[in-house]
Formats: sequence, C-alpha cells, structure tokens
Amino acid sequence: MGRATLTPETLAYGVMARERAMLSRAITLTESTLSTHRELAQTTLQQLLPRTGKAMRVGISGVPGVGKSTFIEALGLSLIEKGHRVAVLAIDPSSQRTGGSILGDKTRMAALSINDNAYIRPSPTSGHLGGVARVTRESLLLCEAAGYDVILVETVGVGQSETVVSEMVDCYLVLMLPGAGDELQGIKKGVLELADIIAVNKADGDTVKDAEQAKAAYQRALSIIQQSGSWKPVTMTCSAVTGDGLETLWQTVRDHRRQLIDTGELVERREQQRVRWMWSMVDHSVLASLRNNADLHALIKQTELSVRQQKTTPPQAANELVSAWAAAL
Ligand code: GDP
Repeated sequence: MGRATLTPETLAYGVMARERAMLSRAITLTESTLSTHRELAQTTLQQLLPRTGKAMRVGISGVPGVGKSTFIEALGLSLIEKGHRVAVLAIDPSSQRTGGSILGDKTRMAALSINDNAYIRPSPTSGHLGGVARVTRESLLLCEAAGYDVILVETVGVGQSETVVSEMVDCYLVLMLPGAGDELQGIKKGVLELADIIAVNKADGDTVKDAEQAKAAYQRALSIIQQSGSWKPVTMTCSAVTGDGLETLWQTVRDHRRQLIDTGELVERREQQRVRWMWSMVDHSVLASLRNNADLHALIKQTELSVRQQKTTPPQAANELVSAWAAAL
C-alpha cells in the first residue's frame, strides 16, 4: 500500500493489529515536519486513545557509559521471558546539536532489537527538546496501542532531558556509576529530586565495594531531599553484565507502581502530566504564532534593538510585543 492511500483507519488498525511496520509509519508521521502528516498522526492517535494507558512507563537515565543500553538489553530480555512486550524509546538532545545520537542506536541492543516482542525506536533528531518530547509522548501512546505493556524511555543527562522524561513516565530510574566521591559532586541536584529509584550499576568484580559505597552516599544525599509524593526513593546496586540485582530492581519498580495505584497517585500523576503536556503545546504554538507572524517581523526586530540599547525595558518590550500580536490575531 502506498503512502498516498494511508488513512487514519488503516494506520490505527495496523497499529492495533501489532504490525510493526504500521507502528513505525505512525511514529514517522508524528515526527514529520509536514503538518498534513502530523494531522494524520493526530487523527490516528485520537482513534487509538482508548487503547492507551495500560503500560508500565519507566524512565531510565544516566551519563554515557553508565551502562544504559547493556542494562536495557538485559532487563528487556528478562521481561520478555516473563511474557511482557517491551518498547524502548529514546530522548537524546545531543543528537540535535551534533547530528549523531548517543542513544537509541539499534546496534547498542543487538539481541533485544531482533526480538519479536521488543520494539526499539531511536531518538527523534529534529527540532528542539519540546518537539522531541511531543514526538516521544505520542510514540509512547502508539506503542501502548500496539500492545507493548512495558515502555522504557531512555535519556542521557543532557540539559533538561531528565525533567522531560520524568514528565512522561510513572517511575523514574537513574543509573549511576560506582565511585562515590567525585560522582556525587557532579550530579545535578534536580536529578535526585526526580528519581524514584537510584541504581548504582557495574556492581561486579572489583567494583562491588565502590558500588556499595556509592549507594550509601546516594542514600544519604536522598535523605535530605524533600520528596513530593508518598514514595521514598530507593537506592540499590546492580550489574547489567551479570544480571545481579535486576530482579530486585524490577520488583521495586512493581512495588512503586503498586503504591502509586493504592494511594491514587498514579491516576493523579498521569492527569497532571496530560494537562502539563497540553500547556506545553499551547506555550509552543502561541510562541511560534508570535515569532513567525510576518506582520510583526519588523516590530520584533525593532523591539529587540530597543532592548539591546536599553531604550525599553525587557518587561515593557514584552508587553508591547504581546499586545501587538494579540491585536494582529
Ligand atoms: P551507555 O552509554 O549508558 O548506553 O552504556 P553501555 O551500555 O554502552 O556500556 C558502556 C560500557 O560499560 C560497555 O563497555 C559495557 O560493556 C560496560 N558495562 C555496562 N554495564 C556494565 C556492568 O554492569 N558491569 C560492567 N563491568 N560493565 C558494564
């Protein structure tokens, strides 16, 4: 079937029928820069909405080299053995700047990527982080509609990517390297606030002791951080290579989920995420409508100049631009 004949119905049907090619097509349409493609994807998604929401959505982040792909491959294969279907999505802000991606490369997870019950999608490369987040959120829903019941969203700790991922998952797991001292100093405090689970990876061979020390240090660091929900973040060690600790880790993810369901926090968390997603789309399109308005182009240039030269204060200039934009609507 050619692309010209694609309708939302055929796409939705293909996704529901778990046709991998249809899922990939639907995701490609959400990534497209053409608004007709994105509209087609939106209509498809709207039809699939009742089929979404059932998966365990887990975010996984960590610096390059911490072992994310080794970890996801090991965890993913063990989940598939338990009967799950696993989708892996990536958010990699570095790929926009360099054109090369640290994440989502299929060759990183060789065994998982050829497994029939796994679906791996690399990071979208175009656009700003907000655009990447939109695509990943929509992809996540499409994967749910295609029957994936565990969705792993992977990110590397660049910029705001951790916040973006934590905004779309139920449970946020941060992988750390052993070697407490230096490591702990480099870590962004914000990440500790977001983490539901901190796992020190590479706890094998000679590094077991270092990993235990790092775990204790993170535990101390977490104890002085105010958490918003009822869940107290858990620290642990694991080895993606030997598989040690992976079972306990997954059990913790399940415990976390159970607790969130029992307290009503899961429903609340997802509701809030959806509303924030809506507002971030509004922010983005309102801003685009202002910045891309051809009639305002000259005024924008002139106002920027006035602000540079301190002829107008930035707040005053902002007021003028917004008023001019509203009047031009
Ligand atoms: P990523 O950049 O976070 O995806 O990290 P990779 O999964 O590519 O791993 C980086 C390196 O660390 C590779 O050489 C892995 O073999 C190694 N590695 C990953 N996990 C472990 C682990 O649990 N133990 C040990 N010893 N090495 C690991």
